Amino acid sequence: MNLIYEKFYIDGRWVQPETANRINVISASTEETIGQVPDGSEADIDAAVSAARRAFDDPSGWAHLDPVDRNAVLERFADEIESRSAETVQRVSAQNGMPVSVGAASEGTAPAVLLRYYVGLMAALPTEEVREGLFSGTTVIRREPIGVVAAIVPWNFPQSLTFMKLAPALAAGCTVVLKPSPETVLDAFLVAEAAEAAGMPPGVLNIVPGGREVGAHLVSHPGIDKVSFTGSTAAGRQVGEVCGRLLRPVTLELGGKSAAIVLDDAELAPDLGKFFAATMLNSGQTCYLGTRVLAPRSRYDEVVDLLAAMVASLKVGDALDPETQLGPLSSARQRDRVEAYIAKGLGDGARLVAGGGRPTGLDRGWFIEPTIFADVDNRSTIAQEEIFGPVLSVIPYANVDDAIAIANDSDYGLGGSVWSPDTDRAMAVARRVQTGTIGINSFDMDIGSPFGGVKASGMGRELGPEGLAANQVIKSIYRQY
Ligand code: NAD
Repeated sequence: MNLIYEKFYIDGRWVQPETANRINVISASTEETIGQVPDGSEADIDAAVSAARRAFDDPSGWAHLDPVDRNAVLERFADEIESRSAETVQRVSAQNGMPVSVGAASEGTAPAVLLRYYVGLMAALPTEEVREGLFSGTTVIRREPIGVVAAIVPWNFPQSLTFMKLAPALAAGCTVVLKPSPETVLDAFLVAEAAEAAGMPPGVLNIVPGGREVGAHLVSHPGIDKVSFTGSTAAGRQVGEVCGRLLRPVTLELGGKSAAIVLDDAELAPDLGKFFAATMLNSGQTCYLGTRVLAPRSRYDEVVDLLAAMVASLKVGDALDPETQLGPLSSARQRDRVEAYIAKGLGDGARLVAGGGRPTGLDRGWFIEPTIFADVDNRSTIAQEEIFGPVLSVIPYANVDDAIAIANDSDYGLGGSVWSPDTDRAMAVARRVQTGTIGINSFDMDIGSPFGGVKASGMGRELGPEGLAANQVIKSIYRQY
């Protein structure tokens, strides 16, 4: 794979970048260059925001189309995205090391499903509602598109995260400037090609890849009405500060350090595949994972042994190999970071049960062994900070109250899971965990239900009707006759 792009998709056209700066795309599995694209500058962002602004403000444009007509364009967009899904999966996996077996659903299937879901919602939900006034008259309550949306996404699930923003925003009638992460840009060009092929009107979707400075310029740009950000908590705090000062609506989907709570009656062995997906998917580079495994003291050794066996059975290898269950980390920087956390865990006295090093026989690519630490103190660094690698900390607990207290003793609150054949008991625990989302005997995100975090994991919700509402403003028109 060696894909070269020279231009950006802005205002429905392929335009020359304002600078000669380039992004070199490297394969996480082979460390070889697999593509090159222009690196966005502030001037490119300015051009993209102007185009999105014009398209939004056009009185006969996207925002004012009948939803039926917008939906027709988005249906074609979904078809075009779907026809590129196999190529999309390959590009994502080659770039960030996500196994194609994982990317097939999240990066291949989910984008078109999301578009069609929001097309369906816009068709089903009225944009106006009439209420009787409490004193007199009637009020027409209108849901209008919020405006020009800045969509900023990370590299870990670049396509599904992109469409969690694009699908509701475009369906609501917003126009969008999308800034993909520099690590995953090749898949974003397929989105641009699909938009063009679908006949998306000029300026409705504009795509400028670039780094954090370019992202920061987009966030504070006067032409933006709403920021939709997914990324680290550190960056999210900066984005939130800027949006607070500007009184600019913002959705923040940030980091996590969730708990997988194994109850004392859990039957984990038959569910190890689901347990792996809920705790280590995509080499731990998934925001909602339960990377703190809370195990009852009565069954602690058994759980630790089971997890050691789980990671020993994983097939680690090239992300493009369909058999691979665990690929490399996305970048050399990311591996350095994970290795530093493993060293910190050892230094703080955690017991290394499995992994901890680089796998033998995989000399190229940013591979790391799936790693299990036992006897971890919940207050220690590896239990409190987001590692974003295949590293689990197994923490003992005395009883259910203790487990819930440990789960909630975290700055974060994004995902998590509870494991028990007694689903009523598991539900009772799930209700008490301070988190935006939680799974029972798995963690299967549902596109039709809201997703997001509490505490340092973010603000606002994506997905479901709530994700559409986040791209709308409500106007009340008071009528006397
Ligand atoms: P990151 O914060 O470094 O970057 C994310 C995106 O934001 C990139 O496009 C980057 O260029 C841009 N960016 C960085 N700083 C910015 C700033 N100050 N202003 C504007 N844009 C800025 O995160 P990352 O390392 O790419 O991604 C991993 C993080 O994302 C993890 O913390 C993970 O938990 C989080 N994440 C959260 C969710 C969720 O839904 N809650 C989903 C996936 C990933």
